[in-house]
Amino acid sequence: MIRLSKSIVGQIEAEAVAKVICEDGYLGMGSEVKLFEEEIATFIGVPAENICCVNSGTAALHLAVQAVTEPGDEVLVQSLTFVASFQAISGAGAVPIPCEVLPESITLDIEDARKRLTEKTKAVMPVHYGSNPGNLDAIYEFAEKENLRVIEDAAHAFGCKYKGRNIGSFGDIICFSFDGIKNITSGEGGAIVTSDRNVMALAKDARLLGVEKDTEMRFNGKRSWEFDVKHQGYRFHMSNIFAAVGRVQLGRFISEFAPKRVAIAEKYRELLDGVKGLKLLESDLRFVVPHIMPVRILDGNRDGLKDYLEKKGIQTGIHYKPNHMLSLYGDRAYDLGTSEKLYSELLSLPLHPEVTEEHVVNICESIKSYF
Ligand SMILES: *Cc1c(COP(=O)(O)O)cnc(C)c1O
Repeated sequence: MIRLSKSIVGQIEAEAVAKVICEDGYLGMGSEVKLFEEEIATFIGVPAENICCVNSGTAALHLAVQAVTEPGDEVLVQSLTFVASFQAISGAGAVPIPCEVLPESITLDIEDARKRLTEKTKAVMPVHYGSNPGNLDAIYEFAEKENLRVIEDAAHAFGCKYKGRNIGSFGDIICFSFDGIKNITSGEGGAIVTSDRNVMALAKDARLLGVEKDTEMRFNGKRSWEFDVKHQGYRFHMSNIFAAVGRVQLGRFISEFAPKRVAIAEKYRELLDGVKGLKLLESDLRFVVPHIMPVRILDGNRDGLKDYLEKKGIQTGIHYKPNHMLSLYGDRAYDLGTSEKLYSELLSLPLHPEVTEEHVVNICESIKSYF
């Protein structure tokens, strides 16, 4: 079976965890998290105080939304995204407003989003689908004109660039995920990146039950016993165990994971280019380290091809069911025909650093033989 995705972890990660457990003996948020934040900052090219690590990408998005909205405010977000984007918005008390995507890239359709603006719209959440940041300049222009905050769901886009600049090194609020199968993993984890001091202070307090300035104390091996709490907080902080895994993975990303992911995607694109009945999505592999390899299967053939590949031991996925089709988020009438059509066409092919060139050749030949 060729798996769709896979955590690539082993002995080095295990040793880093063993060190935290057997030598350091402090499992909570401490020195490993501080170092991980510093190393992410260096990697992206921002000051360390601009990074806040939490225990999932969803938690990162949740804290970002909470920092810039009041309950009942609306956040424009593409419907075709992982349910985590929507859960983070509603979990923070805001209302996700599902928008259309561009069929070539599955990134936010700004013209559609513009139609859904109301007095309550406070933020826009573009999703870097398949690691493609889409037209970020246009999104920031739109946001500036309409006085909106931008929360980038960059869960797919750790280690990616936009016009040569690292995702996270510019922009408003950027959220990454380090869950098991993302570009790097910390087991579970995520990070908020922003140069907005106020948002960062709110996020850092809220990740640990709203205890003011607890991060500084914990990073110095201390605790706050006398403190104030002004905002709703959560147990969203990252543990030293997770950070230890993340630090090893960050080291492996440039030399090992990124070149492999890019090479696999290049091979797919080379072999599938021009295949009738299949459409590749836009992706600039000079800038993008792809987390997934979605393609569009036209003419109602998606489910048939999916079953055919499954029988040949090739696992595939569907990223994603549009959220306005879910009970929790479908209570209003939304006209999102493009997203619904794309949902019937999308098929994600195996992509993780242990997929070999031989696998890709085999998968592409199977696809061609189906057609
Ligand atoms: C993975 C993912 C998230 C959430 O990240 P977790 O770390 O799994 O909580 C959010 N948005 C998208 C698009 C994702 O793929």
